[in-house]
Amino acid sequence: PAGPGPSNASARGKGKGKGIDYMDEFEWGQELLHRARKVFGIKDFRFCQKGVCNANMDGRDIVCVMPTGGGKSLTYQLPALLTPGTTVVISPLVSLIADQIMHLREAGVEAVMLTGATSKEESRDIFTRLGQKKQTKGRGAVRAVDDGNSEQEEIKLCYVTPERIAKSKTFMSLMEKMALDGRLARIVIDEAHCVSSLGHDFRPDYKKLSILRQLFPTVPILALSATCPPSVLKDLLKILKMRPVVDGNAATIDGTVYFSSPLYRANLHYSVLPKPSSQAAAIQAMADYILAHHARDSGIVYCLSKKDTQTVADGIREASGGKIKTGVYHADVEDEVKEGIHRKWRNGQVQVVCATIAFGLGIDKGDVRFVLHHSMSKSIDGFYQESGRAGRDGKDADCVLYYRGQDATRLSSLICGEIEGQEKLHEMLRFAQNLTDCRKLLFARYFSSSSDLSTAAWEDPSAGPGTSLAKCGHCDNCTRSPSTIERRDVSVQSWQLLRIVEAVCREGGRVTVGILSDLARGLAGGAFNVSSGGKKRKRTEKAELDLEDVAGGKVGLSKDDVETLTIQLILDHYLKEDFHQTAYAINVYLSPGSQAPRLTRLSKSAVASGSGPRLECTFMTAKRRGSTTKAATAKSKQLSIKDSEWIPKRKPKASQPS
Ligand code: ADP
Ligand code: MG
Repeated sequence: PAGPGPSNASARGKGKGKGIDYMDEFEWGQELLHRARKVFGIKDFRFCQKGVCNANMDGRDIVCVMPTGGGKSLTYQLPALLTPGTTVVISPLVSLIADQIMHLREAGVEAVMLTGATSKEESRDIFTRLGQKKQTKGRGAVRAVDDGNSEQEEIKLCYVTPERIAKSKTFMSLMEKMALDGRLARIVIDEAHCVSSLGHDFRPDYKKLSILRQLFPTVPILALSATCPPSVLKDLLKILKMRPVVDGNAATIDGTVYFSSPLYRANLHYSVLPKPSSQAAAIQAMADYILAHHARDSGIVYCLSKKDTQTVADGIREASGGKIKTGVYHADVEDEVKEGIHRKWRNGQVQVVCATIAFGLGIDKGDVRFVLHHSMSKSIDGFYQESGRAGRDGKDADCVLYYRGQDATRLSSLICGEIEGQEKLHEMLRFAQNLTDCRKLLFARYFSSSSDLSTAAWEDPSAGPGTSLAKCGHCDNCTRSPSTIERRDVSVQSWQLLRIVEAVCREGGRVTVGILSDLARGLAGGAFNVSSGGKKRKRTEKAELDLEDVAGGKVGLSKDDVETLTIQLILDHYLKEDFHQTAYAINVYLSPGSQAPRLTRLSKSAVASGSGPRLECTFMTAKRRGSTTKAATAKSKQLSIKDSEWIPKRKPKASQPS
């Protein structure tokens, strides 16, 4: 694929032969910093902001991955001010765009937007201004420093929604005219991971952005994202027809300059808490948690469905005796109501927003002190991004995932059919089931797997260069007291669960995670459903399981533990999930997985005596689980002391936004 002309920075950057280090000093450096301070009121650059600005000034194609709240906007807004012509910014959300425009205009920057909400006259005016051929210095001028006086009237930033690119021919021909006249400074694609269907936030209109490189082969493209795992990055480069990435600290003169900021944010304290099995108890636990730890703080509770957001919002309000004011946000909430909720949340009238993942892109609130997940995300990418909405101001914040194994199948049925959906969900499940490894290291391992993009992004910048990736020291798994977990041999219990699943499947029956847990513990009279009568006339009949005969008696584990073990068996391919489409939903049932015969071909006593594979599983001990329910009734003061056992301890020092 083509790309913008070769860089002319090679002569300037130090360390020739090693490529260009865009974190170095360049001729426009002083001016950049000066404008950053004067226009945006920013003291110093954060993360890779400087490098991205330099590469932008140098007319390069760039991919920049920086955490939410890291400061991606500055990386194009600042160069836009210093280069002649207009920077076109493609951004997915009108509310987000409106917000940016407001801030830019307050700072005295000529910025406009073209969205569905722009009036006809406004549009016409903007088109006229953008179409006007000004005195230009030609294409090479893209790299020249604009003195800021001669072109005051020029529109520096034009924000559009991807629909404009995908559907508006008039806008596309306007852009072509601008490009011909050398007035299209660069194209910025915000939330660029949306182009890839491998990402967790695919938007079809983004896919059409592939046309940009074809129409504007010499205009630099800047792709921004907060989450871009290797597979998505590869896909993104392919779709946007950008060249392979080169390291922004040692860039060759062609290729897409890649920058990523530390993904590790030391002020976010991660933990996974056991989620009580009843809806009411789960909500009560969350309300208690908020009252005990964040009674006066703003937060978000992420829920799986629109219906859940309402249930959880009502529930938390009631469970807190009206102390916690909640709001609801999801895709079907009317736009004005959405705006209202956002406003009330920002000014503190609403403390907690219970939302689906639709609540995200537009959030620019810095002091979100906690993000709770009522249900886990579909992928670690999603979880990292959603939880990352906490603590944008750099101060301490808690990210808590409420997890129980049974949630897995609900999610499974939702992601059924998504590319790589199941693999991604399973990674999320591994993260949630893991009670021993540092959460930061788990993230690092996930985000750097199968790529040569190193784990450097997960280093603590304050730890100094060259140090190997260390535990965070402040997540649940780092701070957990050893007595709160127990690793046990579960070979026999696994054998029992597999035998039950086999028996049910042999009868043509259907078993879910919940039903398996009941059957294994000898509940519900051993009853399970069998559908018969072929495809045309389906009937559901009851059958009964002889637990003694099939599994040699009850499985001696609690409900929670059976669920945990079941999920582990799925992750290790002893069980697998089967999907069944009904008129209303996709149901998920369990059946023996590829590894199952390794256990089930043996007798129970053979497994017990250790002649088969040995399976181990880590469980929460009753002690810790007990504290969850105790927490539900304890008063907040006592609670915070009791809780200290399993709520991750804060880092004593005030951590910086990293
Ligand atoms: P992102 O798009 O990466 O999520 P934004 O660009 O919206 O983040 O920036 C988040 C916040 O950080 C904004 O309020 C912005 O003004 C602020 N910010 C950006 N860069 C800096 C900096 N270098 N120093 C201080 N604050 C900054
Ligand atoms: Mg942004």
